[in-house]
Amino acid sequence: MSEQVHSVLALGSNLGESRDTLVSAVEDLVEPDEVRLHALSPVVRTRAVGGPEQPDYLNMVIEVETSLGPFELLAHCQGVEEKHRRRRTVRWGPRTLDVDIITYGSWTSDDDVLTVPHPRAASRAFVLQPWAWMDPRARLAGRPVSELAARAPDLPGLTLLEED
Ligand code: ATP
Ligand code: MG
Ligand code: MG
Repeated sequence: MSEQVHSVLALGSNLGESRDTLVSAVEDLVEPDEVRLHALSPVVRTRAVGGPEQPDYLNMVIEVETSLGPFELLAHCQGVEEKHRRRRTVRWGPRTLDVDIITYGSWTSDDDVLTVPHPRAASRAFVLQPWAWMDPRARLAGRPVSELAARAPDLPGLTLLEED
C-alpha cells in the first residue's frame, strides 16, 4: 500500500446554492479511492475579505488521508472546482467554489503553482476557526490553530451557520 498523507483542504463558496455546493464538493473530493475523508468541520458564514464588494461566503475545512502526491491532489481539487463551474474572472472575486490545500502532511513548498502550507491560511479566521473546531489540537507553523484563529482580523465577521 502506498503512503497515506493527511491533508487539510479549505472550501469556500459565495455564489449560487453555496451550502449544497459545499456538501457535493466534499463528496466529489473524497470520491476517488485515493482520497479518504478523515474529518469535517462545521460550516461558517464569513464576510468576504479583500477583492470587490461581494456576497458573504460559506466556508469549511476537511481533513483527508490520501495517497495522491501534492500536485496530483491540487489537480484533483481544481477538477472539483471545474465541475462546479468555477470561473476565474476577477482575482479574489466571487466564486461558486474554491478549494485550497492548506497543509499536506509535513511537506512544504514555495512554488507559485502550489505553496504549502497555504501562505495566507495563518491569518484567515475562515480557515482557522472551522479547522480549530474540527481538530482542537491542530497546529500550523508551530502554533495552535485556535490561537491563530483568535488573532485573525476577520474573526468578528464569522458566525457558525445555523442548521435548518
Ligand atoms: P487565495 O490563494 O488567496 O485563497 P484563491 O484561492 O482565490 O486565492 P485561486 O484563483 O483559487 O486563488 O488560485 C490561484 C492559483 O493558486 C492556482 O492556480 C494554484 O496553482 C495556486 N496555488 C498555490 N498554492 C495553492 C494552494 N496551497 N492551494 C490551492 N491553489 C494554490
Ligand atoms: Mg482561496
Ligand atoms: Mg484557490
